[in-house]
Amino acid sequence: MHRGLLSPSPPMSTASSRPRPPINGDFYDWFSTLPDEVNAARLKLRDFMSGEWEPQANGYWERAEFPREYLVGKMKELDLLHGAYTPERAGMATVMDGLLSMEFARVDPSLATFFGVHAGLCMGSIALCGSEEQQAEWLPALRRWDLIGAFGLTEPDVGSGVARGLTTTCRREGDTWVLNGQKKWIGNSTWGDIVIIWARDEADQSVKGFIVRTSLPGYSAETMQGKIAQRTVLNGLITLSNVRVAERDRLQRANSFADTQRVLVTARCGTAWQGVGCAMGAYEHSLRYAQERTQFGKPIGSFQLIQMMMVKMLGNLTAMIGLALRASELQDRLGPKDEMSALAKQFCAAKCREVVQLARESMGGNGILLEFHVARLFADAEAIYSYEGSNEINAMIVGRAVTGYSAFV
Ligand SMILES: Cc1cc2nc3c(=O)[nH]c(=O)nc-3n(C[C@H](O)[C@H](O)[C@H](O)COP(=O)(O)OP(=O)(O)OC[C@H]3O[C@@H](n4cnc5c(N)ncnc54)[C@H](O)[C@@H]3O)c2cc1C
Repeated sequence: MHRGLLSPSPPMSTASSRPRPPINGDFYDWFSTLPDEVNAARLKLRDFMSGEWEPQANGYWERAEFPREYLVGKMKELDLLHGAYTPERAGMATVMDGLLSMEFARVDPSLATFFGVHAGLCMGSIALCGSEEQQAEWLPALRRWDLIGAFGLTEPDVGSGVARGLTTTCRREGDTWVLNGQKKWIGNSTWGDIVIIWARDEADQSVKGFIVRTSLPGYSAETMQGKIAQRTVLNGLITLSNVRVAERDRLQRANSFADTQRVLVTARCGTAWQGVGCAMGAYEHSLRYAQERTQFGKPIGSFQLIQMMMVKMLGNLTAMIGLALRASELQDRLGPKDEMSALAKQFCAAKCREVVQLARESMGGNGILLEFHVARLFADAEAIYSYEGSNEINAMIVGRAVTGYSAFV
């Protein structure tokens, strides 16, 4: 069995008596600049992900199974959301969320999505768009993982164009709202407790957000089948048939799509970090393999062309960390800015794709076997590339900011 990310490099090379350098995806030591709390949480999560989850990850991915009781129990134990959306994390919320996303994705991007949808998009919607009463009612239980959240924006016929194209409707009837429509791709929605549903008001066409309990009559979600990326996280196709939601569960500070956008922009750095993590895992596996695998009587890591692959991966990865970290620090200091988080996501997701491709290539046939881990990261990078704004959409956000011309139709 190929060794996982926690196992140390063997002390001595078989081809020479020199010790091998350590495997370290943080070549420029960026992590030494992080606040102590962030590093402590990051390393606690790394222990779990590399030590306990990684040996099981391929099996769950292959079977497209999400062991929810086990994972939710682990999330409670790790208590990663302690202080999230409170003054305790003020000034480092984006950096903390980003580094945790990275550690999840370094071993398993599916779990990064599970985390991101719950902690970033669902809790973020309530924190940014909910009233103080709604925040007090929902955030503590979500923080403790006693409730699991999802975020329903995308629809079967509308993805990138949700700003104008949302077709799910809401209609006010006294103190309740009646919701109708479908949502596609919604992570955690087939088994979680609540979903933030974004819908268009039949009366004035404005977009509103609702905290929808998945137990409500008229709510159903079927697990999407046949994914070739992030198979472990379960994505749902939700159908809302005359779901009646109380006015008190309408997000009180969500009045238009601009408010939905605030949630997306705030959470987007987390997806950039998913790209960093996925690339870091692939690079580290690939490097270990290059040190161990021999051909023509020599470690393949001694071949110039393989070394070039390592250097290209490392250069990309090092730049990605620097860019994601700077974007997150700026967001924590100055507040979210559309083009800042869009550039981080666009760059990191695109470079992640290049890194996982090189890692896969460096491992020959074993690069497409799950047992060697890179195959899973190679496939999972495709999901990171497409969600939270595709490559093109994020490029157009940045392009609009720097040229002054909008390419959106
Ligand atoms: C694994 C996974 C998990 C997800 N989880 C969630 C979730 O929990 N909640 C949720 O709401 N959504 C979720 N999504 C949906 C995701 O946000 C969408 O897939 C994404 O926004 C892209 O939409 P689309 O897939 O419909 O592609 P489309 O919008 O149909 O785009 C197809 C192609 O056209 C390009 N394109 C579109 N418009 C333009 C344009 N104007 N100019 C140039 N190119 C353009 C796109 O870049 C893309 O290459 C998830 C998706 C995946 C794959």
